[in-house]
Formats: sequence, structure tokens, C-alpha cells
Amino acid sequence: MQIINPATEAIITEITEDTTLTVKEKFEALTIGQRLWATVSLEERIAVIQKFYDLLELHKDELANTLTAEMGKPLQQSLNELNGARARILFFIEHSAKYLSDEWITTEGATKEKIVYEPLGVIANISAWNYPYLVGVNVFIPALIGGNAVFYKPSEYASLTGLHIQNLLHQAGIPSNCFQTAIGRGGVGEQLLQLPMDGYFFTGSYKTGKYIAEKVASKMVPCQLELGGKDPLYVMDDVEDINKTAADALEGVVYNNGQSCCAVERIYVQEKVYDAFVDAYVAQCSKLVIGNPLDKITDIGPLSRKEQQAFLLNQVNDAVGLGATIMCGGKIPEGKGYFFEPTVLVNVHHAMKLMKEESFGPVVGIQKVKDDAEAIQLMQDTAYGLTAAVYSGNFERAEAVMKQMVTGSVYWNCCDRVSAALPWSGRKQSGLGATLSYQGIRAFVQPKAYHIRG
Ligand code: NAD
Repeated sequence: MQIINPATEAIITEITEDTTLTVKEKFEALTIGQRLWATVSLEERIAVIQKFYDLLELHKDELANTLTAEMGKPLQQSLNELNGARARILFFIEHSAKYLSDEWITTEGATKEKIVYEPLGVIANISAWNYPYLVGVNVFIPALIGGNAVFYKPSEYASLTGLHIQNLLHQAGIPSNCFQTAIGRGGVGEQLLQLPMDGYFFTGSYKTGKYIAEKVASKMVPCQLELGGKDPLYVMDDVEDINKTAADALEGVVYNNGQSCCAVERIYVQEKVYDAFVDAYVAQCSKLVIGNPLDKITDIGPLSRKEQQAFLLNQVNDAVGLGATIMCGGKIPEGKGYFFEPTVLVNVHHAMKLMKEESFGPVVGIQKVKDDAEAIQLMQDTAYGLTAAVYSGNFERAEAVMKQMVTGSVYWNCCDRVSAALPWSGRKQSGLGATLSYQGIRAFVQPKAYHIRG
């Protein structure tokens, strides 16, 4: 399989894809390894993860360079991702013992009762390319701490990063038969669906997630899905600082070249502050530097996948055809690399694909609304339910809107944010189940009830 640099279109290297046979052999090894790993004490398992945490810091420059080379995010953002992943790992290191230790419920009387948290077994972690470290550690770290073995399928657009993760986990002390990668495209992921795994943990698109959920349903094992979004941001007329609000919104749209599941994908602004917001947003957006993601001054690198250029152009053209106005960007720059200009459209409405389909690029539509009721109706006019942000000078007023959102996360005066201490989950087509927080520790174990008499 060729690994292509999306900024230059050069071939970085070629790697060997797994075959049906190697996938089967790795699964058999994982089945044996998991039984032993489950007998290792929780403290020792956590100590190994602590070593992995240290190794990520030690090798961060090399890891960040690989990530930027294979998926195109600006180098500083790759370093930020590694720091963010370490913060999440630290959360698991510090909190797992509390949520995985045996829990005594009744210690007096004739029958004593306790809950023991047992691993699921060998789990599949089928992952995305946009934040391979962040979305990866959400799954494989608590899974390993919980005593599971992990069959990790990195995205075909983040395979080198997947191999780095495997090497460092093994170096840290995770036995090689407790963590293995399945290298390849969707077809290799498909092979994991055929195996009798004890759980499926997927991060990726709604289309693939739905397919996987249907395919593994009859196995009667946990299937968690972290899927896409079309996340709204609403600016009320009482915001205190319109420039800061525009800066926040812009970062929420374009960070990671717009390829975040919780990226801001549509903006609604109350009419009183609409012109000021659009002016501030466009002024700041026009200053963004597009270019080589290895350059320190670059804000916007390439998209990770070539076909995404045509996809975004189609959304822009569809919107313009239905009456939208381009305020900035809107084109594919000339030259090598899968770049797309940071783009702002106004005069937009919900008949346009731009306002309904996940864009996954540095593109946004800004729509004027007359009041909170109209904003709520438009924010909720979506098949997705990942996050929603409200900017306002008044928390009670913002909270009244936040309560109406059918989303896993809501934000007041911030956006595009994930915290290790809070559950990360989606409603509707954004997913099933939660990672992070204590829910994300317990997601990889199953409770066993002990009734102890005598
Ligand atoms: P994708 O669905 O194309 O691929 C995800 C993974 O599934 C890849 O590893 C791929 O090889 C594998 N795959 C593809 N077909 C398969 C099949 N038939 N059987 C098994 N595996 C298969 O998604 P992507 O392009 O990698 O990721 C982008 C999407 O992920 C966006 O929609 C984004 O919003 C979403 N995402 C969500 C979160 C979240 O936390 N909710 C985080 C990151 C990304």
C-alpha cells in the first residue's frame, strides 16, 4: 500500500497490507495473549501505560513529523495532538483504579455482595485518520488497562502512525500478543468483522459505522460508534466581544484543516450583530496562511484525501447555485497537494448541502436568524448530534438553548473542545456509547455480580 504525502503528492513509502491469513494469525495470538494479560494486576497494567505515556513525550518530534507527512495537519497541531493524547492517557492512569477495582456492595449479613469488572476479551478498534492519537487513545488505552487485547485497525491514511503506536506500546511492555495492528484499507477492516471479536469500537463516518453495527449485530457483543457531525455555533445578540467570538468560531471551523468530527460546520448569528460578526470573521479568515504543513507560519495544510477537494467544491457550487455568496475562498488552489481555500459563504439556507451534509474541510456557511427560537429550530435541523455551541453574555439565556440540543456535548462561549474528564458521545447519526470520563473506563469491562454466602 502506497503512503502518499497529501501536501506534495509524493510517495512517502510503501507498506505491506495484512491478508486474510495474517489477520487470522494475529487474532489467534491475541486470543492467547489476552488470557495472560487479564491475570496481570491492574497496577502493573497501568505502570506499562505510564511507560507508553513517557515514550510518546520522548519521541514526540518524530511522531509529529510522521503524522503531518501522512495526513497533512500543520506540524504544531500534530504536536498539540500528542500533548492532548498524553493528557487523556494521564486521566486514565489516575482514574482507572477507582472505576475498575472490585466494588463491595454489601459486607454485612449472611450474603455478601460485590461487583467485579472483567475485561471484554479481544476487541477491535477500527479507527479514523483525522486525530489518530486522540481517537485511538480513547479506546486502546482504557481497553488495555481493563485487561483486554486490542486488534487496532488504523485508517489507511494514518498507517505509519498506527505502526508507531504499535512499536511504542510493545516497547513500553504491552506483550506483542496483546496489541496488534491490521494494516490496510476498508477490506482489512471488513475481515475484523468476520472474526469472533468480543467488542467493536469504531471511529469514522456514519456510513461505515452503520454498516459495521448492522454486520456485527448478531454477535451480541458491545459495538460503540463515534461518528460524524454537522455541528452548529450560535451567536446571540448580547455577545460581549464580537472579534473574539469570530476568532473562536474560525478556529473551530478550520483547525485540523476543518477535518474534526466536532468542527464548527454552520454558524447562526442574530441579526443585530450579524454584519459585525461576518466582517470580523471574513477579515480574520482572509489572513490565514495556506501552505506546507511543515512551515511554522502555515495555518491551513492540505486535506488528507484527494477526493475531498471535489466534494467541497461541489458543496460550494451547490450553495452558490441556490443563492449563496462567497465572501472568501471557495477554490482549489493551483499546484500540487490536496489543498482547499478556507471558505465563507453567506445568504445560505437549509436547502443547501453545505448546511446539511458533513463538510469535513475549512468551509462554513453563516446564516442570519431573528431570535433564539429560529436558531434552535435550525440548529436542530440535522441528522447528527455531536456538539452545539452558544455564544452569549448571559449563561441562563444560553443554557435555555443548550438544553434543547439533542447532542452529546454543549458549549457556552467555547467550541470544538473535548475533555478527558467528560463523556464523549454522540446522539442520532453521531454515534452510540461514550468514551472518556468514567463511562469510557467502564466501556471496556463487563460487571460480574458476586453473591457470597457463608
Ligand atoms: P471512514 O468511515 O471512511 O473509515 C474509518 C475506518 O473504517 C478506517 O480505518 C477504514 O479503513 C475502516 N473501514 C472502511 N470500510 C470498512 C468496512 N467495510 N469494514 C470495516 N472497516 C472499514 O471514516 P474516516 O474518513 O476515516 O473518518 C472521518 C469520519 O470520522 C468523519 O465522519 C468524522 O466526523 C468521523 N470522526 C468521528 C469522531 C468522533 O469522536 N465522533 C472522531 C474522529 C472522526
